[in-house]
Amino acid sequence: MEIIRTINEMTAWSRAQSARGKSIGLVPTMGYFHEGHLSLMRRAGQKADRVVVSLFVNPIQFGPEEDLSTYPADFARDQELAAQAGAAVLFVPDAADMYPDDSRTTVAVSGLTDYLCGADRPGHFAGVTTVVCKLFHIVQPDLAVFGSKDFQQLVVIRRMCTDLNMNIRIFAHPIVREDDGLAMSSRNAYLNTSQRQSALCLSVAIRSARTLAASGELNVEQLTAACQKIIGSCPDAETDYISFFNRDTLQPVTRIDDQTRMALAVRIGNRVRLIDNGQVLV
Ligand code: AMP
Repeated sequence: MEIIRTINEMTAWSRAQSARGKSIGLVPTMGYFHEGHLSLMRRAGQKADRVVVSLFVNPIQFGPEEDLSTYPADFARDQELAAQAGAAVLFVPDAADMYPDDSRTTVAVSGLTDYLCGADRPGHFAGVTTVVCKLFHIVQPDLAVFGSKDFQQLVVIRRMCTDLNMNIRIFAHPIVREDDGLAMSSRNAYLNTSQRQSALCLSVAIRSARTLAASGELNVEQLTAACQKIIGSCPDAETDYISFFNRDTLQPVTRIDDQTRMALAVRIGNRVRLIDNGQVLV
C-alpha cells in the first residue's frame, strides 16, 4: 500500500489508474480505524479495482468546543489495518494544503442539514460536504463507500452528488456493532469502563423503540418517552436529541410508518458525544 501525502500526487496516481482502465473506490475517514472502517474498505474492494482510503481529521467540521485537538490517532496501526483491508493507497493530506489561507469556497447542502446533528452542530455538515467534495475532485473515484452509522451524512452526500452532477456512485454500508450492540466509533476510545456500559443506552433505546413499534405503538411521543427513560436510567448519559424522521427527507414525523428511521445523539460523561440510528419498523 502506498502512502500519498500531497494533493498533486494523489490526482496523478488516480489519473494513471483510470488511464489503465482501473476503477477507483474511495473511503473517506478520519482514522483510528475499527472494524466499521475496515468493512467499508473491503466493500469498496468488492466494487472497485483500486481502493483509496483518505485519512484526514477535517478541522472545518469540528465546532470550537468539540474534540478536534484530542481526536484519537494511531497512524502506524491505521496504516497496517488499511493495508490488510486491501487499500492500494492511504491518502493523508495536510490541513494547510487542503485549506490554504486564501481559500474562500465552501459547499453546503440546505434543508437536510437543518435537522438532527445539523441542528446540534452548526456548520458541521458544510465542513463535511466541503471536504468530501474536495476529496472527490482530488481522488476522482468512480464510487465511494460511507457508513450508515452517520445516516444524515450519507443522505446529505447523496444530495450533494445529485445536485452537483457528480458522477460518483455512493454505497451505504450497514452499521458495524460490538457484540453487545454498541455501534463502533473512534470516539468509543474516550470511554472508561462505566461510561462504556452507559453507552449501551443508544442501541438499547433503538431496540426498545423497535420492539414497541412492532407491538403496535406508533406514536412518536410515546416512543421518545420510552427511549428517554432508558437513557435517563444510565449514569453519566445525557440526551442531545432523539428523533424519528422520514428516511429520505429527514423531516420529523409524529407517527411511525415503514419509511421512518430514528436517530439519537447522547453525551456520555458530558464529553463524549455518541450517535446511533436505525430503521424503526423492520
Ligand atoms: P469517521 O472516521 O468516523 O469519519 O468515519 C469514516 C466512515 O466510516 C464514515 O462513512 C462512517 O459512517 C463510517 N463508519 C464509522 N463507524 C462505523 C460503523 N460502526 N459502522 C459502519 N460504518 C462506520
